[in-house]
Amino acid sequence: MKFEIPPLPYPKDALEPHLGAETLELHYEKHHKGYLEKLRKALEGRPEAKLSLAEIVRTSTGNVFNNAAQVWNHDFYWLSLRPDGGGKPEGELLERVEKSFGSVEAFRQEFAEAANGEFGSGWAWLVKDPLDRLKVINSSDADNPLQQGLVPLLTLDVWEHAYYLDFRNERARYVEAFLDHLLNWDFVAANLALGPPAEDLEAEDIDPRAYRRRRENAIASGRSTGRGSDASPPSPPTASSS
Ligand code: FE
Repeated sequence: MKFEIPPLPYPKDALEPHLGAETLELHYEKHHKGYLEKLRKALEGRPEAKLSLAEIVRTSTGNVFNNAAQVWNHDFYWLSLRPDGGGKPEGELLERVEKSFGSVEAFRQEFAEAANGEFGSGWAWLVKDPLDRLKVINSSDADNPLQQGLVPLLTLDVWEHAYYLDFRNERARYVEAFLDHLLNWDFVAANLALGPPAEDLEAEDIDPRAYRRRRENAIASGRSTGRGSDASPPSPPTASSS
């Protein structure tokens, strides 16, 4: 079966004390891998099985969509987090954020409102629209910006399973910990550096695995504009999944 999920990009305890190893263990091993298993089952004998994951997310509905999107969203979520993240972006990305939202503080407020304001289970996103503007949106259940022709740059899972062990029912504290300590601005910068507007992107370019390869290349060649010169490549993925 062609659909796989990549290993976590860091060890399961790497996001402590904000998100504990037990949360990552359950979230990655049970929830994320659970969606993958359900997707594989749902695709058995169906024509969508030969599409890319991103194409399925953009074009399918019902059970196939729900599980495909949850696989894609979680792939993207793990890359949206990093140890010692959060705070302010730097350089070109700082200018983009200030141009779009007025200030980093205004972005933080808008993102927190989107994340806390999602009534049930869902996601908060930073996206690029077809006119190259940065925007914050939220989505319910498995919904994904690709369905609206938007380019995802960053996401935060606000399903309770993402934060309940660490923050109980206090979603706002989880959102604050994300913005202060976990948000991966390098990932946002790498996604923006993909260049072409949404309608020109090939399916592979909006697959999280392609994002990861490009991000690693961008950081390795010193082109990352996310957090300046202290950006360093993530831990080898093979060391992170056990
Ligand atoms: Fe989740």
